[in-house]
Amino acid sequence: MKAYRAAILSFDPDTGAPRYWSDGLLVTGPGAGGAAAPRVVLALGSFHELIRHYPELSVESLPDRLIAPGFVDLHVHYPQTDVIGSPAEGLLPWLEHHTFPQEARFADPLHAAEVADFFLNELDRHGVTTALTFCTSHPQSVDALMSAAQPRGLRLLAGKCLQDRHCPDGVRDQTEQSLLDTEALILRWHGIGRLGYAITPRFAPTCSDAQLRGAGELAARHPGVWIQSHVAENLDELAWVRELYPQDRSYLEVYARFGLLRERSVYAHCLHLDQTDRELLRERGAAAAVCPTSNFFLGSGCFDFASAERTGFLHGLASDVGGGTSFSPFRTMLAAYEAGRAGFTGGGPAKAGVSLAPSRLWWLHTAGAARALGLAGQVGNLAPGCEADFVLLDPRATPLLARRTAQARDLEELLFALIVLGDERVVTRTVRAGSVID
Ligand SMILES: [Zn+2]
Repeated sequence: MKAYRAAILSFDPDTGAPRYWSDGLLVTGPGAGGAAAPRVVLALGSFHELIRHYPELSVESLPDRLIAPGFVDLHVHYPQTDVIGSPAEGLLPWLEHHTFPQEARFADPLHAAEVADFFLNELDRHGVTTALTFCTSHPQSVDALMSAAQPRGLRLLAGKCLQDRHCPDGVRDQTEQSLLDTEALILRWHGIGRLGYAITPRFAPTCSDAQLRGAGELAARHPGVWIQSHVAENLDELAWVRELYPQDRSYLEVYARFGLLRERSVYAHCLHLDQTDRELLRERGAAAAVCPTSNFFLGSGCFDFASAERTGFLHGLASDVGGGTSFSPFRTMLAAYEAGRAGFTGGGPAKAGVSLAPSRLWWLHTAGAARALGLAGQVGNLAPGCEADFVLLDPRATPLLARRTAQARDLEELLFALIVLGDERVVTRTVRAGSVID
């Protein structure tokens, strides 16, 4: 058993409301799966109440630290690590001029391995302990990432990008081979340690009907794997999809028609949806990955948090690196707050802004995001039985942060100061299911 004394933040598993102990105790230990399984949370609560039940326990005392659940990044592209900060006139030119040329380099397994290692180090530095990531269309890009992630004990979900049309040589795959490769990768990696596979059609415009149909069939044959794609990010993209799929009522319904809208399917952006689409997401148990730094960077619009909450479909936060501008969950939470306030979708009329509570933003990047993945009670939270993924945060990491957090009158003010002023300097340690990465 390992135990830590510090301030502790977790969330009520049912309501998502924050739970906080200013002097707390977190006890972790082996789970039911034995020594090889991830360590789990055995208990947490007030230090003085809990320590009586563990008289023999040796406790690591961490005064001035806040223990919080490890962050869950619902949508990121590891091959775009080197694309961050590439300016473009919106999504489609950005793909053509910056993203596809970088992704073509992943045909080389050595390049893929080097970037995979760097990417996983970035997740560590930023306190991200679960990520759902795209790879490129090259199967070796998946092998490189999974091989690097497995020994780290990271809960990583990833998949080979499917794109058999409307993209250049070097990143375009062949329909039949792409589906054979996908199934081989599922069998090789899904459920190995903490790894999971995600069937990954890039987005409807770059996938033929045959490829989408094949992806849907794979999804039906392997119900435990995830599905990840993009939908309704940008107005030019929307117009293109309308041309390509005139028979479908909406962009989202293209995916539904091919059997790609189900539990464990995660769609990045979901900016330009109508109410019928939102209800479809809810009915199918599919989730939206909200990527606010990317949406601001590419000028795509702002996610409609109020409608999402009213409709009740699953959603959570994501970096979307390299369209996104930072691996930092703090930057993403701040941008989500700003997107809520801005309240426009880039096309339609402006809406009244909403102010997302700091604890709500935090939930959307931890327990809420885990719920969107179908992993509630497993990751993204600190509750008995959860895998022991967590971060140690220093609320005084910078002079300004120290000054501001010292004046915080309650938990919400403390969390908001961290969201607005925090970055990777706040993350002093990342613990993944018990394995420590300094
Ligand atoms: Zn993306």
